[in-house]
Amino acid sequence: MYTQPIQQLIRAFTKLPGVGKRTAERYVFFLLKSGKKDVAELTLALKHVIESIKTCAQCCNFSDTSPCALCTDTKRSQQHICVVTHPQDVVVMERVGAHKGTYHVLRDTLQTDAPIESQHIKLTELFQRITTEPLELILALNPDISGETTMMYIARVCKKEYPHVKVTRLARGLPMGSDVQYADDITLQNAFMHRI
Ligand SMILES: [Zn+2]
Repeated sequence: MYTQPIQQLIRAFTKLPGVGKRTAERYVFFLLKSGKKDVAELTLALKHVIESIKTCAQCCNFSDTSPCALCTDTKRSQQHICVVTHPQDVVVMERVGAHKGTYHVLRDTLQTDAPIESQHIKLTELFQRITTEPLELILALNPDISGETTMMYIARVCKKEYPHVKVTRLARGLPMGSDVQYADDITLQNAFMHRI
């Protein structure tokens, strides 16, 4: 049985994704053994992130300014919005360099077993960005069940309420070297839909 402060820190670490009790114990004892300087550095970095990072009022990405640097970049098109799930997806898209517009970070995808209102997904913020000007939403969510559900929902709302919005999605097919026989249903359906 660990003393109370150690138990408390172990509990805090287990809240992180992918960290079980054993990993949390390893982190805690690593910090205890590594000395006060390293711990102070980590504490300061955490404090700085919490105090300085906010949510961009336009794209919902994390940034130290609101609106963020990408949203205020005049060289980027405001009429082409790439919709992604996670802030990390923006970094990947920027690395590829194919998108010259802005982004919208949903933070999550729709779960089919809960009402939309109770979910922490930035859909209201997305639809608030839709103006009367022609606009393209490029849906770049993962092609899994919840990603597909979310993309279908956005496409349906736009078709019904914002007919001037063009909804597109990244073309997907079978990855090189894959076997049709072992492809999952969604991949195969998409390969057919976006056939060349
Ligand atoms: Zn932004």
